[in-house]
Amino acid sequence: MRRAATVPCRACSAELAEGARKCHRCGVLQRDDVRCPHCGAVADAAPHPELIFACEACGGPRVPQDDAILRSKGGETAALRRAEAARSSRARWTAVGLGASALLAMTLGTLGIAGLLFGAGVKLAVAATLLATPLVLLLATAVGRVRARTHDLRPSLDAAWQAAAADLARGAASSFGAADLARALRVDEARAEELLALLDATDIVRGDVSADGELTFRPTVAPRVRVDVPVEPSGDAAAELDAQREAEAHAEARADGRPETRAGKAEG
Ligand SMILES: [Zn+2]
Ligand SMILES: [Zn+2]
Repeated sequence: MRRAATVPCRACSAELAEGARKCHRCGVLQRDDVRCPHCGAVADAAPHPELIFACEACGGPRVPQDDAILRSKGGETAALRRAEAARSSRARWTAVGLGASALLAMTLGTLGIAGLLFGAGVKLAVAATLLATPLVLLLATAVGRVRARTHDLRPSLDAAWQAAAADLARGAASSFGAADLARALRVDEARAEELLALLDATDIVRGDVSADGELTFRPTVAPRVRVDVPVEPSGDAAAELDAQREAEAHAEARADGRPETRAGKAEG
């Protein structure tokens, strides 16, 4: 008898190992909590040369969330949307640039043929200038926009990954290492260490060296809460101190034989 460690794929019923992220046969994601912030599809993210990871449904930039517990609450969404806006704007300007260069080639070709047939004259030169100039300007604008959007893309992606890692770290219930972060965000340990160094530098996590020499990180939020908690009782502590002072004043007043009310006022 087979061990019952398999579950059927939600789409094609292929037998999958329990807890499998994705069907090996049809590719459908077996989890509902991994939703694309751009297209809303429950689709996986695949490695991408420029976007690092891209949605398998819409192609938008994504940060994988592979751990059910150690995961972001969506802090990266805004930066991912900025990156996606840059990417789609770049795609539009690329299309405009390609269109302009095709039109320019056609125009110059036609004028060249006209020049060969009727001889190159002033009229032809004027026609060439009038027709080609707007296309050249449009092409130059498109090239500039494509460059600018490419330039915008990387900082947004970096911001998204940092936000995801920060969000994940803030929600961490216990300390975690680079290997845990690498697994949760589907990156290599070097990249996870880079992200952790940034989180450490911005005081989101604090590094601890465990007894066995392993570097682990814990969110600074938890200690901060512990520090903040006594702030509230400190009001009580202050009241207690006041009461103590008042009692001392009373005792002093009694010892001096002064009226208590005046001593209380003098001390207050
Ligand atoms: Zn399947
Ligand atoms: Zn998508």
